[in-house]
Amino acid sequence: MRGCITKYQILNYAFSRQFPVWSRKKSTQIIMEHQLQSFFICPVCECTDIQLILEIQQVPAHCNLLWPERELALEAPRGDIQLGYCSTCTHIYNYAFAPRHMEYTQAYENSLHFSPHFQGYANSLASHLIDRYALHSKTIIEIGSGKGDFLIMLAEMGNNHGLGFDPSYEPDLTDHRSDRVTFIQDYYSEKYTDLDADLICCRHVLEHIDEPSTFLTNIRRAVGEKEGTVVFFEVPNVMYTLVDMGIWDIIYEHCSYFNRESLAWLFSLTDFHVRDVRETFSGQFLTIDALPADNIGNRREYSREISEHVDRFTSNYQQKVGTWQEKIDKIKERGQKAVVWGAGSKGVSFLNTLNAEHAIEYVVDLNPRKHGMFVAGTGQKIVSPGFLKEYQPDLVVIMNPNYEKEIRQMLAEMNLAPICRIA
Ligand SMILES: [Zn+2]
Repeated sequence: MRGCITKYQILNYAFSRQFPVWSRKKSTQIIMEHQLQSFFICPVCECTDIQLILEIQQVPAHCNLLWPERELALEAPRGDIQLGYCSTCTHIYNYAFAPRHMEYTQAYENSLHFSPHFQGYANSLASHLIDRYALHSKTIIEIGSGKGDFLIMLAEMGNNHGLGFDPSYEPDLTDHRSDRVTFIQDYYSEKYTDLDADLICCRHVLEHIDEPSTFLTNIRRAVGEKEGTVVFFEVPNVMYTLVDMGIWDIIYEHCSYFNRESLAWLFSLTDFHVRDVRETFSGQFLTIDALPADNIGNRREYSREISEHVDRFTSNYQQKVGTWQEKIDKIKERGQKAVVWGAGSKGVSFLNTLNAEHAIEYVVDLNPRKHGMFVAGTGQKIVSPGFLKEYQPDLVVIMNPNYEKEIRQMLAEMNLAPICRIA
């Protein structure tokens, strides 16, 4: 399925079709820059039959970078999103993604472990992995371990030894220490291939990597002949975006958007035997369990129902953004006090897509490391839930329906009864 259409043709096709463009600042310079780049080959199957399904210009390059001043947040680096759909392996990816925009430093903050609901999910996932793979007194590597919350959980629950790789790890952080875990402030790369592990886990990293097959090939090389090493990955599920219209999950940091079929395809291509691909976290995530294999002849296939949803997505996206734009305009007109609950990717994406900086002043988040910081691109101040007692909002926009119950409960405990809406 190669050679159906050239990169140059795709580019012309994209511009001639006049796909909806959601733009803050149109930048000819950036468009020209992309014309010179070569990101129109599917990063999973290398096919060039890519269909443009959505274009969003000039979104913040990092949703999870914290900005200590509003002016800095407003000037945050930006990039374009051009989502392409590969009709061969069903993968969706941003072919305007430029890796040079990405730099993960210690200011990167994406921990979700402050939410009781998320904490409960992570707990049940760790206990599932420990039970399923008898992880007791074993060695576990986590790639992209963040602040280490999940790795520490796996290590403590199963008396395991954990090795966490993450360039954004803060070595002086004292509140999550465990003797069972060692952190290496670095990217996991071929130079660590001699490390042995019973489980290699990697959550919410693969979607950030512009060459996922190279990344997995390196891991496969590191595993070598160790047939029993289980490889476990978790990524966002693009079906939640396409079917449930979780459109605020489309962010610049994610170059890849996996469904079951494309995720299994990628693992099979890089010499893993796929044991299982499951939807978790109310369908928002996909997990894959795989074992090293010697050939790809046994590729496990999943449903390709995604294609019908891809066809409808562009107009559905337009409609949803339009509806929210009207709601935001009304909030402004009526002088209502509205806050967004959730300063993670979804919240940042929501505020930037809708240009909501003049209608919404504050974003609530449970993570104390975010309080007092400002949202990339639109500059809202991030506050703790307690701030709402004084602010008395009329409307709370809940970014993730999975947290609705705990948010309503917290509001009730503060004797607040604003209107709550799921974004
Ligand atoms: Zn493909």
